[in-house]
Amino acid sequence: MKILAITNQKGGVGKTTTCVNLAASLASFGSRVLLVDLDPQGNATTGSGIDKAQMKHTIYHVLIGDKTIAEVTQKTDKGNFDVLPANRDLAGAEVELVNEIGRETKLKIALADIKGQYDYVLLDCPPALNLVTVNALTAAHSVMIPMQCEYYALEGLSDLVNTIKKVRTHLNPTLEIEGLLRTMFDNRNMLAQQVSAQLVSHFGDKVYKTMVPRNIRLAEAPSYGMPALIYDRASKGAQSYLELAKEIIERQKVTQ
Ligand code: ATP
Ligand code: MG
Repeated sequence: MKILAITNQKGGVGKTTTCVNLAASLASFGSRVLLVDLDPQGNATTGSGIDKAQMKHTIYHVLIGDKTIAEVTQKTDKGNFDVLPANRDLAGAEVELVNEIGRETKLKIALADIKGQYDYVLLDCPPALNLVTVNALTAAHSVMIPMQCEYYALEGLSDLVNTIKKVRTHLNPTLEIEGLLRTMFDNRNMLAQQVSAQLVSHFGDKVYKTMVPRNIRLAEAPSYGMPALIYDRASKGAQSYLELAKEIIERQKVTQ
């Protein structure tokens, strides 16, 4: 079981789009996948076709210790993976956990219950380096960083890399950066090409070969509550996430 935190404190870089579409793509290759929504916005929940307003129990109840993961997990009928949903309740966890002993390890401990039941657990982080994100980084084996190739992207990356280093020192010594994913990529844009080249020179083969292009189908699919793979399999967006899933599966074979 590989636990991947999909994180970037910058908002709107494609974390949730990556989680939902990667979950569906990995599942289409036969992997057992759990998508954990760790954002009170609940976008990964809705994007997987689950009505977050109807949820009595969510990841919030898991983090505060009221429910187990198995009790809260839902099956999507849109892509053959499981979802641990979130809604606005999760915003309260930040405050409620702050004085608790072991507040950073709540998710890690909860995930120990489902050990071996999935091949991949994808953690969709909120756009913040908050306690929930620290829980994700503490529980994860590695981190995937989706980013847009813009000028400020590299600046934000150094804050994230510093947080990862701190988590490694204090909470999770084996945490690795799995890879950097270029999202909403536009090859005709000179700046995007330059930033992309800088990324590769700095991070080498940590940068996934797969680039996710800007593709309207990826933006439309969530409003139908489905991954792009189901909404429009032939679209460039859906195809790029299938490619990414293959790259991840191949990489894992090499390291095993
Ligand atoms: P947040 O930080 O708010 O959680 P996020 O990092 O999860 O945001 P997304 O919600 O995945 O980012 O994407 C932001 C917006 O960009 C959404 O409207 C999404 O549909 C759109 N989007 C994401 N990836 C692509 C893409 N490759 N092509 C076109 N639109 C995209
Ligand atoms: Mg998101």
